[in-house]
Amino acid sequence: DRAVGKDNGLARIKVVVRKRPINKKELGRKEEDIITIEDSGCSVMVHEPKLKVDLTAYVERHEFVFDAVLDDHVTNDEVYRVTVEPIVPTIFQRTKATCFAYGQTGSGKTYTMQPLPLRASKDMLDIIQHPANRGQQLQLWLSFFEIYGGKLYDLLNDRRKLCMREDGRQQVCIVGLKEFQVSDVQIVRDYIDRGNSARSTGSTGANEESSRSHAILQLVVKKAQDRVGRIIGKMSFIDLAGSERGADTTDNDRQTRRVTEVSFAYIKMEGAEINKSLLALKECIRALDNDQGHIPFRGSKLTEVLRDSFVGDSRTVMISCISPNTGSCEHTLNTLRYADRVK
Ligand code: ADP
Ligand code: MG
Repeated sequence: DRAVGKDNGLARIKVVVRKRPINKKELGRKEEDIITIEDSGCSVMVHEPKLKVDLTAYVERHEFVFDAVLDDHVTNDEVYRVTVEPIVPTIFQRTKATCFAYGQTGSGKTYTMQPLPLRASKDMLDIIQHPANRGQQLQLWLSFFEIYGGKLYDLLNDRRKLCMREDGRQQVCIVGLKEFQVSDVQIVRDYIDRGNSARSTGSTGANEESSRSHAILQLVVKKAQDRVGRIIGKMSFIDLAGSERGADTTDNDRQTRRVTEVSFAYIKMEGAEINKSLLALKECIRALDNDQGHIPFRGSKLTEVLRDSFVGDSRTVMISCISPNTGSCEHTLNTLRYADRVK
């Protein structure tokens, strides 16, 4: 059974699936929408087209049940209400929260994640600036960085390379990471835009490259005390690398992407690192859910960075993004199976 937070009854781990609408390009290729969502909003069905040995077509159905399943007409506002909004007040009660978007490239991770920190910061600032809370001298701080090829880069400081250190009290410190105090949402929006445009872009084009990195935006609530301030709670928003990386970086890919031997080898290596981090993430979340004393956060850079979000009173929301088209069937099944293991 799911471990339930003692203070407010919120589940410690929530797994939500979001389906994006089928697009013109897919329809143009005569692809179909193979995903249906039950009215209850908790169950998703994948209708996988298959062929028998005599080559007659049939459909194999796969059903999965999650905390919530959001259909393709659901807005980003509703996504916020289901995922992040309930956790915001807990950040003021010393909770560390993490919200991930997981799924193959093109499934809607960035579309889903981009508005969430903005909405959350608005709600946090409302609490901080509420007359009843003024005396507490609370502050909101923002940082934004990227993990690319196992290395950390500050997205708000000219992509400066960062390193990580742990203090004795299981607090993670990213040395040199710039943190900005924010007091209104317009400023938050500017930082988010700045960070997004600093995400890794190579010769292959922005989306291609950014799908191979994890982008991590953190909102930290502090209490003004001495010069540095004391951390009350923290919320991390993570736009994960495309889940298809590594698993199927094949020679076929190499031809279609027209890459050289050397960069192909590099892509393969990166793929392995991404696979490792997604696997480690799953292991950490499962250990959390079972209240295991030992959390295997050393499995990857991503989980090491999130170490302090996995200990103590923590909340995790995973949003699994899926594409509806026939051609994505295999990736969609992989994404749902991953989410099912986390659940
Ligand atoms: P990813 O980050 O997983 O690679 P994106 O967020 O870039 O995927 O989404 C791929 C494309 O699909 C984008 O053009 C995006 O605007 C569109 N899209 C994704 N999700 C939705 C949605 N729920 N509604 C409408 N368009 C969407
Ligand atoms: Mg993306």
